[in-house]
Amino acid sequence: MELRRGIVVATVGTMAITSGIQWTDATFNPWIGCTQVSPACDNCYAMVMNSHRQWAKGWGPGVPRHRTSASNWRQPLTWNRKAGKEGKRIKVFCASLADVFDSEVPDVWRTDLWNLILETPNLDWLLLTKRTSSIARMVPWTNDWPDNVWIGTSVENQIFANRRLPILSEIQAKVRFISAEPLLGDFSLGDFNIDWVIAGGESGSGWREMNVDHVRSLRDQCRERDIAFFFKQYSGFNPHDLGREVDGVEWNQFPLNSVYNLEQKMSQKTNEKLKQISIEKVYRLSGQEFRKVSTAELKNPEVEIVPFDFKGKRVFFTPVSAVSGIGAESMGIQNEIT
Ligand code: SF4
Repeated sequence: MELRRGIVVATVGTMAITSGIQWTDATFNPWIGCTQVSPACDNCYAMVMNSHRQWAKGWGPGVPRHRTSASNWRQPLTWNRKAGKEGKRIKVFCASLADVFDSEVPDVWRTDLWNLILETPNLDWLLLTKRTSSIARMVPWTNDWPDNVWIGTSVENQIFANRRLPILSEIQAKVRFISAEPLLGDFSLGDFNIDWVIAGGESGSGWREMNVDHVRSLRDQCRERDIAFFFKQYSGFNPHDLGREVDGVEWNQFPLNSVYNLEQKMSQKTNEKLKQISIEKVYRLSGQEFRKVSTAELKNPEVEIVPFDFKGKRVFFTPVSAVSGIGAESMGIQNEIT
């Protein structure tokens, strides 16, 4: 795990359950079926899959959406129990074969989804849509979005950044994110309220070329503004062979705002170095262990700092891995070791 000032920049406690998508632990499809709305949809994976599997009787306007089974709807309840038991939040991407804010979905299905989200507080629900203009009228929340909902929009180029980002930016969700996949053109993040950007190229039949400079542009904009950045894949029929590095670095960042399930526990660890700092308490943030930094450390630019709002106060943490790893001395913590 690597941390920079103010930003968690690595996968912390990813718990793969049912998804091969690197930036989530699980995927949940409450229903299947959709209508293409922008160039990013041209080679819609869900549409292609549906043509083989026939979940919905076709694709597009006027075709009834297919609600998934009751047993599928019970799965998040199981994940929620697992997450609670293991003290590790689970990220759930909803939906990979549909769009939650599709106007052809019966409202009652969406109400069932909102209720399920509220019943599963140990899950972080990643709602990704291309229909940002429908969000406000379809959710039951205004300024009171539940902590376990992240709202995201797909952006493929500047045209759709102009349309979707101003709306996303105003939503009062815990985390606002962009999925720039397939990335078809360069675009500016402007000064919109964005916590996380995922970028990636198109794969499979009919894939379109992604310009790596456009990935670099997003990466650099994110670095400038301390926005978490995740690079998923290059473009190609099967891009997995191309690896995931951009200029020699694999970008696996997650948003700091997601780190909110603070649980305190005492430092009864097996790690030798950790035992040594017995005067410290160890805190668990999304499955990763942190401790509070001292005033001296706060002034030390070498120390990795993660600010966090806890019970109305700003508290500064540093990862325990940094303490127990190489360089502990140079981080100026030897006075705390008993
Ligand atoms: S919005 Fe998503 S699911 Fe719907 S057609 Fe476009 S790519 Fe497919």
